[in-house]
Amino acid sequence: MRISLNTQIFLSAVLGIALGLLFAKMGTQTNGVKQGIYLCSLLGTLFIDLLKMVLVPLVFTSIAVGVANLRQHSQLHRVWISTLGFFMLSMALAIVLALIASNWFQPGKGLSLDLFQGANQDIAAKQMSFAEFIAGFLHGLFINPFTALAQSNVLAIVMFALLLGIALVMGGDRYRNILVLLQEGLELMLRMVGWIMRLAPLGILALLAQLLASQNMAVLGSLAQFVAVVLGTTLLHGFVVLPLLLFLIAKVSPLRFFKGAREALITAFATSSSSATLPVTLRCAEQHLHVNPSIAGFVIPLGATANMDGTALYEASAALFVANLAGIELDLGQQLIVFFTTMMAAIGAPGIPSAGMVTMVMVLQSVGLPAEAVAILLPIDRLLDTFRTMVNVEGDMVGSLIVQRLVKEK
Ligand code: ASP
Repeated sequence: MRISLNTQIFLSAVLGIALGLLFAKMGTQTNGVKQGIYLCSLLGTLFIDLLKMVLVPLVFTSIAVGVANLRQHSQLHRVWISTLGFFMLSMALAIVLALIASNWFQPGKGLSLDLFQGANQDIAAKQMSFAEFIAGFLHGLFINPFTALAQSNVLAIVMFALLLGIALVMGGDRYRNILVLLQEGLELMLRMVGWIMRLAPLGILALLAQLLASQNMAVLGSLAQFVAVVLGTTLLHGFVVLPLLLFLIAKVSPLRFFKGAREALITAFATSSSSATLPVTLRCAEQHLHVNPSIAGFVIPLGATANMDGTALYEASAALFVANLAGIELDLGQQLIVFFTTMMAAIGAPGIPSAGMVTMVMVLQSVGLPAEAVAILLPIDRLLDTFRTMVNVEGDMVGSLIVQRLVKEK
C-alpha cells in the first residue's frame, strides 16, 4: 500500500512532536539526545535550504507570468483591488478578534513586569518609530532587481516582477518569446518543488522534533493565560473566520479546502516561515485547490509577505498584554492606534521566523509601551510562531480562492 504524500506529511508531524517531547523528557544534555537533535537540525535545515533555493526564481517567474496572463487590463485591475481588499479585511478581522479577546480576558493583569526583569538583558530593543518604519518600508519596495534577487528580498522581487508582467502585457505579441521563457522557467521550478516535497516528511519531522526538544516549558507556564488567549484566537481565526469567509464568498467547502491546503499548512507550522513555505503554498493552490495559475501566481507571493493574519492577531494581543503587565490602561483611541500600527507591522514583517517580534517594537512604541518588553515574549515566540505562520499561509490560500471567485463573477 502506498501512503499519499499528504498523509505522510501529517504522520511525520505527529511523530516529530512526539520525538521532540521525548527528547525534552530525556534531557537535552544526554549524549544520545544531543546527537539526535544535531541530526534533526541538519535535516531540518537542509529541507528549508532546498525550499529557499527555488524560492526566488519561483516568485519571480510566477508573478511575471501571472500578471502577464491576466491579459485584459480591466481584469488585472479587478484582481488587484480584490486582493488588497481581502488582505485588509482579513487582517482587520484578526486584529479586532485579538482586541476583543484581550480586553475580555485581560491576560497579564496581576502579573508584574518585574517578574521578568531577567529577560530584559537578552535583547536590545531596536528603536523604530512609526514614521521611520513607513519610510523604510516604502524605500524597500523598489530596488535594483539584481540586488533584490541576490538578497532574496521577496517584496522587492514581487514589485519588479509585477512591473515586468505589466510591461509584457502592454508590449503584446512583440515579447511573446520572453513570456514563453518565463512560463517554462516557472514549470521547471514547480517540477523541482515536487522533488523537494518528497523530502518534506523527513524535514518536517526533524524540524518539529528539534523545536519541541528545545522549549522552555516553565516560561510557557508563567505566561499560560496569554498563550491561551493567543492560541485560542489564532485557532478561531484559522478554523472559523477564514473558512467562513471562504464559504460565504467563494462557496468553497472548508473540508475540501483543508484537504487541499494541508501540505502547505503543515510545512508552515514546521518551518515558521511563510517565505520558505511559499513554493509549497503555490503548489497546493494551483494543483490541489485548482486556483488559476495567473491568480495564484499573483496573490500568493504577494500574500506571503503582505498578508499575515496570524502575525497581526499576535501583535495586537501582545501589545495589550504588555500594557496589562506594565499596568497601563489603553483607551479606545490608543487601541485604534494599535489597530493601525499592527496592520502596518504585519504587512511589513517579512515571512521569516520571529519576524513579528521585530516589527512589534513599533506597535509597542506607538502607544508608549516599553519596547524592551518583547524580551518577555521571546522565549515563547518560536512556539507561537508555528500557529501564526500556519494561519498566515492559510490566509493566502483562502485569498487566492476568493479573488478567483470575485474575478470570475465579473
Ligand atoms: N513567522 C511568520 C511568517 O513567516 C512571521 C512572524 O514572525 O509573525 O509568516
